Amino acid sequence: MNSIKQNIVQVISQIDTATEKCGRNAGSVQLLAVSKTKPIAAIEEAIAAGHYAFGENYVQEGVEKIQYFAQKTYPEPLTWHFIGPIQSNKTRPVAEHFDWVHSIDRAKIARRLSEQRPAHLPPLNVLLQVNTSGEDSKSGLNFAEVEALAAEVAAMPNLVLRGLMSIPEKADDYDSQFAAFSSLRDAMTALQAQHPQLDTLSMGMSGDLEAAVAAGSTIVRIGTAIFGARDYTTKA
Ligand SMILES: *Cc1c(COP(=O)(O)O)cnc(C)c1O
Repeated sequence: MNSIKQNIVQVISQIDTATEKCGRNAGSVQLLAVSKTKPIAAIEEAIAAGHYAFGENYVQEGVEKIQYFAQKTYPEPLTWHFIGPIQSNKTRPVAEHFDWVHSIDRAKIARRLSEQRPAHLPPLNVLLQVNTSGEDSKSGLNFAEVEALAAEVAAMPNLVLRGLMSIPEKADDYDSQFAAFSSLRDAMTALQAQHPQLDTLSMGMSGDLEAAVAAGSTIVRIGTAIFGARDYTTKA
């Protein structure tokens, strides 16, 4: 089995190849290492390989890791992205500890995050999560709801609206993956008419990063290809 370091090198090379293939600038796609369910030691290995941006899905687990790493010093600051569903009674620790939230899909959650963001921290970077597959079961806004929520969030004092995120329904063929990601890119382009500062499209995971990059992703969220398969048997 490859080490985490080897995996990171391989994923970065995959991103570079995909970026080059579609004529985008080198370095225009950021790698977010999704460390949910993985131990501190795995994150330390990624940091030793020169990687500093991490995604977490569970509030308590993420905050524990952030607090642990806050006591350490590295050549660059770590950045922490909350990418999981947020319940309204869990917004405070997210507002107090994370740098980014990718999963905003209700005004209530955004309002609480803005109110609870501590004054000594920079505004929280946020993305609206869009349901590109139209399935009832998935979280995320419908396309028709994006514009109104974007206007509300953009006016909140302690949040900075940066763009959109999606987790499309799993598809094994490139064309379906590309179509779903392109629909998110089109929504972003439309939104940029009112919000020209938007610069972030969070889309693409271990199984579909090529299609995501071709469709304009600026952050790919990669867990399994870096840290290996997740074991959920110990989680409630
Ligand atoms: C777990 C997760 C990922 C990483 O998925 P992999 O398939 O392991 O790369 C990306 N985004 C979100 C929102 C996740 O929950």
